Amino acid sequence: ATMPPLLSAIANAGRHGLLVKSAVVMEKFREITIVAFDKTGTLTEGTPRVAEIRLLPGTGLDADELLALAAAAERPSEHPLARAVVAAAAERRLELAHAQEFSSAPGRGVTATVDRQVVRVGSPALLRDSPAPGGGGDPAWATVTELEAAGRTAVVVLVDDRAVGVLGLADRLRPDAQATVRALTALTGATPVLLTGDNPGAARRLAEEVGITDVRAGLLPADKVAEVQALQAAGHRVLLVGDGVNDAPAMATADLGVAMGRHGSDLALETADAIVVRDELAILPKIIDLSGRAHRVVK
Ligand code: ADP
Ligand code: MG
Repeated sequence: ATMPPLLSAIANAGRHGLLVKSAVVMEKFREITIVAFDKTGTLTEGTPRVAEIRLLPGTGLDADELLALAAAAERPSEHPLARAVVAAAAERRLELAHAQEFSSAPGRGVTATVDRQVVRVGSPALLRDSPAPGGGGDPAWATVTELEAAGRTAVVVLVDDRAVGVLGLADRLRPDAQATVRALTALTGATPVLLTGDNPGAARRLAEEVGITDVRAGLLPADKVAEVQALQAAGHRVLLVGDGVNDAPAMATADLGVAMGRHGSDLALETADAIVVRDELAILPKIIDLSGRAHRVVK
């Protein structure tokens, strides 16, 4: 028996490892003019590691104590950076206190009560909300700047609103990221854009490596939505590829949302129009190729 062309395109997509949620998705793929990539967990493997632990002066903590506090607060979070912090603590066999009153702010970090102290872990933007420590200069910002200049993602740790340490995290580019960006542009004529919550230094370094020149960094989830809307207002049809809770609103706004499956957050998987099941970016250009063929047959 022969399958209707659109159904066979969907089945084919499935065979390549893309779970497509509805038939119109295959049609939309070929109309895309911008492919917006998230960074952490999408262009990178999403399994960053804690490469450096920096204690700020006068805190009375040692590196293990700092890491244990941060990991206790991060334990309930599904963010890739949070999992890296927890994994680093586990590697050192640190015992973690039980965190209470956990809350997370997508694109910013987490807050929890650990040993009756309020521990906040996340983006350097958190430093802006905390009172500057006394004495000349600001060692927290200086440490953040130094780590970011080295291409790390800086994660700050605050205890009762006082910065106590900075972690430097390193993430690896996906092996197929560069080839995917190149194939997407060549196949579709679409422009790749990087939309990331990470700092401009780390973002630009990675963009250069994969061949993306349009970089928009330091974005909160709502900023990602605004970037997508601005592109659409300029007449573009936007495909957003992401993995995180922070990508879900932008994914919903975009003409087409694709989620990375393996480490993708539940919200991203729910919101996306299609899911990359085996976590290979390289199937995206293949799918667009397939959708083009399906369209020609349907016509
Ligand atoms: P991306 O857009 O690159 O995937 P995210 O929006 O997920 O990045 O995160 C942006 C920034 O927010 C991170 O670089 C980090 O500074 C901070 N952040 C968010 N959640 C966490 C967390 N649970 N732990 C530490 N940092 C976090
Ligand atoms: Mg991400």
